Amino acid sequence: MLLLDLGAVEVAAQIACLDLEGVLVPEIWINVAEHTGIPQLRLTTRDEPDYDVLMKRRIEILAAHGLGLPDIQRVIGTLTPLEGAPSFLDWLRERFQVLILSDTFYEFAAPFMRQLGFPALFAHRLVVDDAGRLLDYRIRMQDQKRRTVQALHGLNFRVVAAGDSYNDTAMLAEADAGILFRPPSNVVREFPQFPVAQTYEELRAEFARALTLRNRSPRVVSTGS
Ligand SMILES: [Mg+2]
Repeated sequence: MLLLDLGAVEVAAQIACLDLEGVLVPEIWINVAEHTGIPQLRLTTRDEPDYDVLMKRRIEILAAHGLGLPDIQRVIGTLTPLEGAPSFLDWLRERFQVLILSDTFYEFAAPFMRQLGFPALFAHRLVVDDAGRLLDYRIRMQDQKRRTVQALHGLNFRVVAAGDSYNDTAMLAEADAGILFRPPSNVVREFPQFPVAQTYEELRAEFARALTLRNRSPRVVSTGS
């Protein structure tokens, strides 16, 4: 007996991997900087390419201002997903199984996950003491975006990925189809192989196109009875 009809199998065998910040929600640190009035928190990997140095500095800055995780979560709780993001995600989830692959932290992403209907999220973790002070952070896995796509291929899924920045390009390259969403111009120049979408309508069109470009044949799952 077949578990699924062929159309459903085709949809089930396709996974969409999405970056979070810049694709579905605003940049978290930039908004925390604005809402707390601490401009040094605007620093990104473009200012400090060493991520570990950058994170240690952010943690020091927060400690110097007496800010802990609850303060930051309160700020993040006032933010909303990008306009059009929830309906885009609804559209996408009817056509793909969706995984959010993010280099942010579960503790920061949580308020957005509620607003987005709790999609599957692969992210990292913060180390926080009982008083809510940020002590450190734990990267769950280096290069997790690319390695997740690789692992999904190992499970015979076809993957379409979308992201907005440098830290997404390895994921886009690994995927069967990669799409840039509202990327900075230097990323567009350096990665001309990826189509660029500036609106959710264009992003829908790119995903729809990727759906029709199936280059792996769908597998039919049998129960064996
Ligand atoms: Mg991003």
